[in-house]
Amino acid sequence: MRDNFILWLAVIALMAGSVSSCAPIDSEYYTADDFQIVKKIDVHFHYETLDDRYLLLADSLNFKLVSPNVDAGRSINEQLEIATELKRKYPDKFAFFGTFGVDQFGTEDFAGSIVSRIDTCMAAGASGIKIWKNIGMTLKDGVGNYVMADDPAFATVFTYMEENKIRLLAHLGEPKNCWLPLEEMTLDNDRSYFSNNPQYHMYLHPEAPSYEDQIRARDNLLERYPGIPFTGAHLGSQEWSIDEVARTLDRFPAYDVEFSARIGHLQYQAITEPDKVRDFLIKYQDRIMYGTDVGVTARNNNYAATVRSLVKRWKDHFLWLATDAEVIVADLDGRSVKGLQLPKVVIDKIYFANAEKFFR
Ligand SMILES: [Zn+2]
Repeated sequence: MRDNFILWLAVIALMAGSVSSCAPIDSEYYTADDFQIVKKIDVHFHYETLDDRYLLLADSLNFKLVSPNVDAGRSINEQLEIATELKRKYPDKFAFFGTFGVDQFGTEDFAGSIVSRIDTCMAAGASGIKIWKNIGMTLKDGVGNYVMADDPAFATVFTYMEENKIRLLAHLGEPKNCWLPLEEMTLDNDRSYFSNNPQYHMYLHPEAPSYEDQIRARDNLLERYPGIPFTGAHLGSQEWSIDEVARTLDRFPAYDVEFSARIGHLQYQAITEPDKVRDFLIKYQDRIMYGTDVGVTARNNNYAATVRSLVKRWKDHFLWLATDAEVIVADLDGRSVKGLQLPKVVIDKIYFANAEKFFR
């Protein structure tokens, strides 16, 4: 009798516990309603304004943001000032990657000045350093040769990062679509980006390094500096094939990836091989992170519209990854793709646990 009484107390306690959380505690999958309660980090969110409303909005949806400074657009000093201030104000909600410019390539103390720039960024609270596709795609040496990321001129820089265990976030190369004519590209957003940015549309620049050259330069870095904690932005520019991403992850233990701006490529592959994409995300659940590549600046003058499209994007991604809902994908000509319904444990890692290191 007494045992029964204790059992009933336990049942009542369990029921009380499950009332306060929205989902049944034993369910293996999240539902659309769980979007807000799931802890999330967007690891690739270009935050280029001191307007903190976007951060507070993200926080209200249980999102932390990681902003990579980038050697493009607004000056890298202004980007660092903004990031430093946001990090100071919101150390638990915001993190950032610093970066360096390459305009001084070929000058005497090129590498030394980058190392001191890295020190400045890290002292300001950076989680690591981002490098960008200008290295490999537009940077040239004094005699007009393209400079790749594995150029000896950067050796001192990467040795320094390896010795000090400074994380490298590398956006090197571009989607493979970049080397194809517009009409052969698989995704609408690639078509529109490269038609608006012909200087980066490598199909139009056959004299420039090939797609394979970009991947080789990246792999050379991973091989030469195995001690650098290395994150491949945008699926390491191997977005067109999860087999290729998997091969790189298998080959380099210190490497992980985030899929910002490339989720459409995962969805494209999931049209024909949904189980394969799902199995890939499950197999590499400890080494893949969620990101969008959304940017907010003081010039985003229509705050309401920016927020609407941001929240819709975040929710659509969650629906596709966490539930079995049909999700309409604008980048795929508006066709719908069935959600992968990844287990909760996988969602929690891809959305949060794998990126928590950026907040230490
Ligand atoms: Zn970006």
